[in-house]
Amino acid sequence: MIGSEMTGSFQLMKSMNRALILNTIRSEGPISRADIAKRTKLTPPTVTNVVGELLKTGLIKESDTGVSKGGRRPIMLTVNWPSRNVIGVDIGVNKIRVVLTDLNANILYKTVAKMPVPVTEEKLLETLKKSIHRLVTQSGADKEKLIGIGVGMHGMVDSERGVSLYAPSWNLKNVAVKEELEREFLLPVKAENDAKTLALGERWFGQGKDTENLVCINVGMGIGAGIILNNHIYRGNDHIAGEIGHMVIDVDGPKCSCGNYGCFQTLSGGSALRDYVLKEIALGRDTILSDWLEKNPESIDGKTIYECAKKGDALALEAFSKTGSFLGIGLLNLLHLMNPPLVVIGGGVSRAGDLILSPVRKIVKLRGLTETVKATKIVESKLGENGTVIGAATLILADLFALNNS
Ligand SMILES: [Zn+2]
Repeated sequence: MIGSEMTGSFQLMKSMNRALILNTIRSEGPISRADIAKRTKLTPPTVTNVVGELLKTGLIKESDTGVSKGGRRPIMLTVNWPSRNVIGVDIGVNKIRVVLTDLNANILYKTVAKMPVPVTEEKLLETLKKSIHRLVTQSGADKEKLIGIGVGMHGMVDSERGVSLYAPSWNLKNVAVKEELEREFLLPVKAENDAKTLALGERWFGQGKDTENLVCINVGMGIGAGIILNNHIYRGNDHIAGEIGHMVIDVDGPKCSCGNYGCFQTLSGGSALRDYVLKEIALGRDTILSDWLEKNPESIDGKTIYECAKKGDALALEAFSKTGSFLGIGLLNLLHLMNPPLVVIGGGVSRAGDLILSPVRKIVKLRGLTETVKATKIVESKLGENGTVIGAATLILADLFALNNS
């Protein structure tokens, strides 16, 4: 081994130890130096050295003393959560949400901006940059403390290059999000598909904290999935793993925007809910949704249908039951393919709670191939509308706390 290679591998080992120790303090803290050594199987002098360096950076701090197991009471270490900040961005079809978080993904400040219509590449990047500048100014964020910007966006994203390959809602291709933002803000930037971002957020800060494998389904107007496999986002060969919205569920089903028939998202999700209700109203169904339709047809969406279902409207209830059953069928295919122990349902439609989850669970229980599949844990995301921004911030946090963990 020549000198520079030796230095290189030494540096790598050092940074791996640093990440391992930092992540142990994050997940187990408050924790003593001795317990870190036990957990990580590193030698006490290595732990002491790295902890000393981390203390100097201010990323961790010494907290109260712990319980003595005989002898001196140990000094406990915790992550200094407010010591750094991350910016998380959720580029939705109609809105851009931007948040400032601490190292524990707690949201300290939030701004929401409307997307310009029509969305062009130039306008998208301009709105994105303006929104981030506005957040930094309004929140009074300390620029010295900012460690990066994470971006979650709909469509297909090449996360290695940080390029939005295809955003179908705006028909935009090859938008260099990472490059543009790094040049503007001089900070590391990571970009990823929104469903994958949501899945990462759930793994670190939501329902998936205790599992290394999970599937997260983002049910908004369309449907996408993020798959976490052995703690990593599974991206597939060409970044499109999880694009389940166009998985064919019914070959004789309705025509999809992609040109095929019976795609998952023509039968379930926000658009399908709306289409189902509008079709039934056209056929003469009696429903309180007709009042909305007369006033403002555009206002009929998942939320209004949910409001009407809560009031006991038969058509609204039926729409959730039908589209929920199709969500169950699509999910069942995923369960048989991936066999995860946990499924998290997020996105706007998931906020209908049991109205959408009950038919899903019913289908899985009825049609699962084994008792284990039938009993797969299916839960609603608790991160709510912040799921994607928290996940976006996690793209940066995962890089800080663990090597190769995103
Ligand atoms: Zn399709």
